[in-house]
Amino acid sequence: EAKQSGRNRFRFFDVSISKEAREAFRTIECIRRALTRDELELLYQPKVNLRSGKVMGFEALLRWRHPKLGLIPPDAFLPAIERTDVIIDVGEWVIDRALRQIDAWAALGKHWPVSVNIAARHFQLPDFVERLQRLLRRHPDVDPQSLDLEIVESTAIDNLEHVSQCLTDCQKMGVTFSLDDFGTGFSSLSYLKRLPAETVKIDKSFVRDILHDKDDLALSEAIIKLSRTFEREVVAEGVETDLQESMLLGLGCYLAQGYGIAAPMPADQVAEWAAHYELNPR
Ligand code: C2E
Ligand code: MG
Ligand code: MG
Ligand code: MG
Repeated sequence: EAKQSGRNRFRFFDVSISKEAREAFRTIECIRRALTRDELELLYQPKVNLRSGKVMGFEALLRWRHPKLGLIPPDAFLPAIERTDVIIDVGEWVIDRALRQIDAWAALGKHWPVSVNIAARHFQLPDFVERLQRLLRRHPDVDPQSLDLEIVESTAIDNLEHVSQCLTDCQKMGVTFSLDDFGTGFSSLSYLKRLPAETVKIDKSFVRDILHDKDDLALSEAIIKLSRTFEREVVAEGVETDLQESMLLGLGCYLAQGYGIAAPMPADQVAEWAAHYELNPR
């Protein structure tokens, strides 16, 4: 009888916790397989200087090309894998691909920096710097200055000492950093002082309502001013309209990304898009 209830308890436990857990587990397995089957790909979204009309570089954005479902965005699978070491394999695949792309563009005479998003679990590895070095060595022709790593501030919150040391060590190799989704965390002001990233990215949630919401305007202005004080570059993300562009230019934020400039695109469309943009920067 004890055995019986034990089994029931187990079954109950199994069913109750695990609908989400099972789904996450399935997602993790799918991505592991996607890696080995070469079903992951990167799209590239331009970062431009609105004032000069120059293309400044690209952000690499991950997609899973599902054989039946088509292109799947990262929000559908990253949350599950970010809690496991699969994110490290994925992250290294992304860095390697991005370096390969930088090399390919350089061969066309295009020296575009590429930004890559790095998950907290990946960046917080004790040997992140050595791992990055190993990846860079696989691409000896790539100038490490062409690689920019985007981290969100919450990556730093758990272990600021380690993260800022790691950041500095990567910078010694030439790699640069952007603080992504800036302003959405809890400690933006003090963290900016202690994280010597070259660039700050204004989160798209502030940019979206910058014309209508005075709080979002105030926050964007504050981030732009703060960036200037700390001598950081500032990029607005999620720029969709001409009015947002004019507003940002007026505030002194010249670098921008967003659907209004271009959506993320396959690597083989980039050169043509850039040539066209630089001739007609809207
Ligand atoms: P993120 O790094 O903040 O990237 C910006 C996201 O906003 C991208 O979504 C981009 O496609 C989208 N976006 C660009 N312009 C606009 C716009 O004008 N309006 C709106 N509404 N959205 C815009 P995506 O590609 O779906 O990526 C979502 C998030 O997934 C990224 O946010 C990043 O946190 C994460 N991610 C993407 N690729 C990778 C990766 O390779 N590794 C890791 N660890 N995370 C990644
Ligand atoms: Mg990003
Ligand atoms: Mg962002
Ligand atoms: Mg985001």
